[in-house]
Amino acid sequence: MSGKRGLVMGVANDHSIAWGIARQLADAGAELAFTYQPPSMDKRVRPLAESVGSDFVIPCDVGLDTDADDPASLDSVFAEIGRRWDSLDFVVHAIAFSDKAELKGLYADTSRANFQRTMVISCFSFTEVARRAAAMMTNGGAMLTLTYGGSTRAMPNYNVMGVAKAALEASVRYLAVDYGDRRIRVNAISAGPVRTLAGAGISDARIMFNYQKENSPLRRAVGLEEIGKSAVYLLSDLSTAVTGEIHFVDSGYNIVSMPRIDGLKT
Ligand code: NAD
Repeated sequence: MSGKRGLVMGVANDHSIAWGIARQLADAGAELAFTYQPPSMDKRVRPLAESVGSDFVIPCDVGLDTDADDPASLDSVFAEIGRRWDSLDFVVHAIAFSDKAELKGLYADTSRANFQRTMVISCFSFTEVARRAAAMMTNGGAMLTLTYGGSTRAMPNYNVMGVAKAALEASVRYLAVDYGDRRIRVNAISAGPVRTLAGAGISDARIMFNYQKENSPLRRAVGLEEIGKSAVYLLSDLSTAVTGEIHFVDSGYNIVSMPRIDGLKT
C-alpha cells in the first residue's frame, strides 16, 4: 500500500473493526486519514491515529443532512480531505447504528423512526461517502464496507440491522457497476462476530458469538488482524479484478446449514 492514501471511517476504540483494518493498512505502508463520531470519540481516535503516524483526524456524523453547514457533515469532511490531498486511493466505511431497544424481540416491532435512522446511518451513508470519494479517485480506487450474514439469513435480535445490511450489500453491487469504468472497485467484508461496541448492542450477542464460534468449520472466532489482512487484499492491487463482492471472513460459518451434533444417530 506504499504511496496510497485512504480514509478510514468508524474507529471508536482499539476493538473496532475499522481499527483492525487501519493497523494492517498502515503496516502495509498506506497513509491514512480518520473520521470519528463527534463529540466523544475524539479522545480515543486521535492517539490511535498518531500510533500509526497520522495526524489527519476529522469529525464526521453521517446522520446529518448532507447539505448541513456543519464541520461534521460529509461535505465538510471531503472538503477537508481535498485541502490536504489532491486524490484518494481508498475508503473504508465501518459504520452502523440502530436503537439498542430494537435489537431484541421481534423485527416486526421495528418503529418507522428507527428503521429510517438505521437505514440512513448503516446503509445510505456508504452511498453518500462513495459519491464523494469517487470524485477524488482520479487514478482509480477501492471502497470497502462491513456487513454481516444476518443480511441474507434471519438471526435472532439482529432485526432491522439485517434489513439494512441487505440493502448495504445491494448498494455494493450497484456502486461497483456505477464506478467500474473509472477503475474504482467496491466490495464488502462480511465478518463473523467480533466483540465491539456496536456488537454489544445486539441482545444476547455473547450467545451468538459462542454459537458461531462452535459451529463454524474452523471452530474459532475471527480476529481483528484477520479482517484487516483481508481488507488489505480488497483495497490493494492484489485484487484488481475483484469488485461487487461480499467476501466472508467468518471462519466459514456462512457455508454451514446445520450445527454439528456429535453422536447423531442415523
Ligand atoms: P464499533 O462500535 O467499533 O464501530 C461502529 C462505528 O460506527 C463507531 O466508530 C461509531 O462511532 C460509528 N457510527 C455510528 N453512528 C455514526 C454516525 N451517525 N456518524 C458517524 N459514525 C457513526 O463496532 P464494529 O463492530 O467495529 O462496527 C463496524 C462495522 O462492522 C459496522 O458496520 C458493523 O455492523 C460491522 N460488523 C460488525 C460485526 C461485529 O460482530 N462486531 C460483524 C460484522 C460486521
